[in-house]
Amino acid sequence: VENGADAVGLLRTELLFIHRKSAPTADEHKESYQSIVGALNGRTAIIRTLDVGADKEVDYLTLPPETNPALGLRGIRLAQVRPDLLDDQLRGLLAVKPFGTVRILLPMVTDSGELVRLRKRIDELAAEIGRTDPIQVGVMIEVPSAALLADQLAQHADFLSIGTNALTQYTLAMDRCQADLAAQADGLHPAVLRLIKAATDGAAKHGKWVGVCGALGGDPVAVPLLVGLGVTELSVDPVSVPGIKALVRKLDYPLCRQRAEDALALESAQAVRAASREIWPLD
Ligand code: PEP
Ligand code: MG
Repeated sequence: VENGADAVGLLRTELLFIHRKSAPTADEHKESYQSIVGALNGRTAIIRTLDVGADKEVDYLTLPPETNPALGLRGIRLAQVRPDLLDDQLRGLLAVKPFGTVRILLPMVTDSGELVRLRKRIDELAAEIGRTDPIQVGVMIEVPSAALLADQLAQHADFLSIGTNALTQYTLAMDRCQADLAAQADGLHPAVLRLIKAATDGAAKHGKWVGVCGALGGDPVAVPLLVGLGVTELSVDPVSVPGIKALVRKLDYPLCRQRAEDALALESAQAVRAASREIWPLD
């Protein structure tokens, strides 16, 4: 708020689950979110449901070890074995007042079947607490299948939010925690940009908006291209808010669109970075 943010674009809730001996109750969830919303002075918060697994661990969830945890029971998939965790979190989210200040964001969605099931569950839990006001539900686009099926997802979601950290990892098959691959695992890779384009095109078919909540959204070299690809909301680290807002205000939208289209035809992330820096030199 002090740095001029218009809203919270991604609230990761993993912190509410770690450093504890057991999972938070529905009331504890509600209290946490209520106090955050209170601090936002009327701004809204997009709150993501639990996304543990792989790079994010919670000790007391003694889940069986997985050979490929990044491809395992993470994000909403955890609800297949621990539906209680997600239910309690959703109960807490649905109880936050005033209604409309909180939007739910679902991580690691693969296709619309999952989304439809979860929306139904959200409706059931809302009915349990007597809530009749709708709640907005968005989907993280961080798995290539979700980007490719964005039109189907957008039919059932209120908005899409691209998690470029995971989307880069899964598109390039490069572990985001593998230091030796850090330089190559660049979200400006043309393959990732094409998936971002698939996501914005898919959402546009149903009049839904698309944000970016991965680190690329706070990268000044990437921002003009994201805008050009049709992204209309950026979630960035608090410290980056003023700089990114200032940058976006100066952009020429038709130029962004043209150059983003050109970037899709380039052959490497380095080429995309070089082209962007040439058109939009950093101060
Ligand atoms: C992402 O994957 O881009 C994202 C925003 O989620 P996280 O970084 O928490 O995995
Ligand atoms: Mg992610």
